[in-house]
This record gives sequence, C-alpha cells and structure tokens, in this order.
Amino acid sequence: MADVKYVFITGGVTSSLGKGIISASLAKLLQARGYSVTIQKLDPYINVDPGTLNPYEHGECYVTLDGAETDLDLGHYERFLNVPTSQANNVTTGRIYQSVINKERKGDYLGKTVQVIPHITDEIKRRIKLVSSGNKFDIVLTEIGGTVGDIESLPYIESVRQLKWELGPQNCIVIHLTLVPYLSASGESKTKPTQHSVKELQEAGVQPDVLVLRTERNLSADIKKKVATFCNVSENAVVESVDVSTIYEVPIMMLHQKLDQTILQKMGLQFDKEPPLTQWREFLLKLNNPKHSIKIGLVGKYVELPDAYKSISESFVHGGAMNECHVNLEYIHSEDITEKNVEEKLAGLQGIVVAPGFGARGIDGKILTAQYARENNIPFLGICLGMQCAVIEFARNVLKLEGAHSTEIDHKTKYPVIDLMEEQKSVIDKGGTMRLGGYKCLIDKKSKAFSIYGKEEIIERHRHRYEFNNKFYDDFKNSGMIPVGINPDSKLVEIVEIPSHKWFIGVQFHPEYSSTVINPHPLFVNFVKACIG
Ligand code: GLN
Repeated sequence: MADVKYVFITGGVTSSLGKGIISASLAKLLQARGYSVTIQKLDPYINVDPGTLNPYEHGECYVTLDGAETDLDLGHYERFLNVPTSQANNVTTGRIYQSVINKERKGDYLGKTVQVIPHITDEIKRRIKLVSSGNKFDIVLTEIGGTVGDIESLPYIESVRQLKWELGPQNCIVIHLTLVPYLSASGESKTKPTQHSVKELQEAGVQPDVLVLRTERNLSADIKKKVATFCNVSENAVVESVDVSTIYEVPIMMLHQKLDQTILQKMGLQFDKEPPLTQWREFLLKLNNPKHSIKIGLVGKYVELPDAYKSISESFVHGGAMNECHVNLEYIHSEDITEKNVEEKLAGLQGIVVAPGFGARGIDGKILTAQYARENNIPFLGICLGMQCAVIEFARNVLKLEGAHSTEIDHKTKYPVIDLMEEQKSVIDKGGTMRLGGYKCLIDKKSKAFSIYGKEEIIERHRHRYEFNNKFYDDFKNSGMIPVGINPDSKLVEIVEIPSHKWFIGVQFHPEYSSTVINPHPLFVNFVKACIG
C-alpha cells in the first residue's frame, strides 16, 4: 500500500482567514477524485479540549460521534466530507503536554531531560500520524490553528519541518493561507504582508508549496506572479480565495483554479478528468435559487457571537436548500425576552428554536419562548437545554406544577422535572465528563418524530449532564407532551413532542452536529418544511 500523504495548512498575517474552509474544500475535491481523506485540527492552546471554554472565547464546541469535544472546524470537515471525525482529529497543546507529562511520571523517559524538542515535537508527530493509523486514509490534511509567528505555534511548525524532512517533499505538502489587503486610498492590493509571513515560515525552516491568498477583490496575474517570485513557489501554486456568498462555493472556486490538481501533482499522485461533484452542485443550485423565504428565531444567550451556534445555522442552510427555501435566522437574546415583550420580540417568525446552553443566565426568556411557541401553534424545535426549557414550561403551565425547574438552575425546586443524571452525581471534574457522543434512541412508531426519521432506531450525539426526570413520565404523557424517543439501555428520554401542536419537538441530543451538505438532517429539513406551511 502506498504511503499516507500529508498536507499541512498554516495561516499567516491574521487569524480568521478561513483555514478550516480551505482545508475542507480541498479535502472535498480530493475525496471527489476518489482518494480517502480526513482532516485534523491542531490547536495551540493549553486547554486539553475546548469543552471547558465559554462559547464567547472560541465559538461552538463541536462533538464527534465518539464523544470528543472539539473545535468547530471539525463541524465544517464533517459537513463538507460527510465522513465522521473522531477523537484523533482534534489535538491541543494541552493534550500533547498531558501525554508527555504522563509518560514522564510513568518513567518512560527515565534519566533524560524532557524537552520541547524532541519530546513535544515527537508527540505532535505521533498524533499527526495516529489519525491515519492502519492506513485508513490516502491523504491526511492537518490544519494548524493560530498564525505563523505566534510563540505557541512554534512547536507545530517545527514538527512540520521535521516531517517534511523525514518523509520527503512528495509526501508532505505545506499550504500557507495569507491575506492580501486592498488599500482603497491607493487602489492597490498589497502583497507585502504575505511576503513577510512566508519569510517567517522560511525562518522556521519551512518552505510552503502552495499559497492561498485571501482577498476581497480578484487579484491580477501580475500580483500572483509577484507573490510566486518573492515567495519561491511555482506560479500555478498561487491561488486566490475571494469572498463568496456561501462557504459551500469555496470547493468550486478551488476547483476552477486547479488547487486539487496542483497538490496531487506535487505529491506524485494520479488524477484524470475533473470530478463532476454532481450532488454538491445540485445543493448549490437549490441554495442559490430559493423559491421560499422564511424567518426563524434562534433564541439563545450567546447570540452576540453567531459562531457559538455554527452547526445550527449550517443545518438550516442544508435543511433550507433541501426545501428550496432561504432561511433567515434571526438571533434573539434570551436575556432580552420578558413576559411583557415576548410577543413583540417573537413577532413575525415562522419558526422558533431554543438553543442549547448551560446555567441560569437567560433561562426565563427561553422558558417564555417555549410557552409562546406552544400557545400560538408556531413550529418549535428545542435542542438540549431548549428541550429542557420546553419541559419546564409545560410542567408549570399545563401540569400546574408551580415552580417546576431543572435542578441545574434551582436545586431546591419542588418539581425537578429536569434532574442530574444518576451517573453524573459523583462527577467532580468538569473536563470531558458530560454524557458525550452518540447514543441509541428508539422512536415510537406512532410519533411525528418517527415519520420524520422514517426509522425506529437512530443514533444521535449528546452533550449534557441533566435529563428528563422519569418520575414525571406519566404526567407528561397523559397531558399531551409525549416522550416519544427513549434510550433503550438507560431509559433516558431523548425526544418529546406535542401531537396536538402543528410542530413541537424537543430533543435532548444535538441533531445539528450530524447535518451535512449531502445528508441534511431530517429534523431540520422537516422543521423548515413545517415553517413554510
Ligand atoms: N445544561 C444542560 C445540561 O447539561 C443542557 C446542555 C446543552 O444544552 N448542551 O443538561
């Protein structure tokens, strides 16, 4: 079997240039040409994973099927490639140091001084190779978080340098993504920041093979030639990435510039005629030519930073396109919603989502939102904490259990309709200890959820500590909020719905983590359909 090929994606000049989207787009093209690919993200921060980070810090925490709490870029990888990622696909500096220090304590380096080079870089290289262990993939793309020149990125760049030397240039390609700013005062696009950024890489011993230039305007052939000349890359290896209307256009933009061919050529791999990308293009056609337009309110407490709800907003792009519908997602702050203004705040929406979340802030607005949607027959989807809020609301206003709550917010409530899971009661550490990843759920055949999924057994991803309290199971069932999805092993309630309502579903899991371009999640597709009416 041929050796695994490695492609590294580094970034320069500024952060937020979209390395994740470029990585996912290139991977998509290589996949369409018949190669098996995966993408890995290396994050230079000290947290062992982003699970303990506030979404304001780092955007959404994405969860893999095997239960890793990861960077949101892994969501893009899955949405583009339609292949699940795993624990090995996201590694942080914290995790690297943790394993090196654990080994040191065990005595694995007995007698030696443990140092950044070689011990930390060896561990980084081991993690890079681990993702393709058993030769599962032909090509591994590894995105290096942060910006070249950052102190914390240095060990990663050094590891890339070593790998390039160890594996040979054909087996190890470096793509560097930079910014070419346009100065309107002089009417010029400027290449100097790119030149400096490449110099910075070269100083660290790494010569990039391909440059992707992020730019607001198309770049002339002269500019690209200038960049090629001064940065020591071939002319066909300078690619531009102009702002486009949707991230899903980026693979097509890269295809037009033959980024995939250039990479394959440099790796000495075969390619023949252009991949048709039929399903992808069909999706784009629908996305760009909507027949309907609806407004859906997303009620949450991190709405100042839309990245906090990345997977939800992308799921609506997929579910919308499937219905040939443009979904305007209106982000509504749950802290701003009060009994007095709820009607005004939620006016004009064709559908309402209450978002996942943690803690007390903004909880009352979420509960009011669930009540408003229920009483006004507006399609409603509650995700995780959103489902829990719908349960609390129903308990208070329909079951008349005054003061019903989740013990996460009110641990003395008389009616703990949402309560800490039994196995969570002894958990003290916060990192990686929630109920995480894929769990089975059996759906009642008479339910709306069953008609949506079209099957009885599903697997969905989780990230929570609290659950529907089964002591109240019959009360809910007899009053019209029916638990219709149950975990067959633990008996945890995973889905509730109100059959008398137009469309009212709460899910304890996160359907948004598994919606992809090729496989839009049925709950989102059907919810959008109901909102169109
Ligand atoms: N805070 C709730 C719990 O831990 C919900 C979590 C979530 O919305 N992801 O159960």
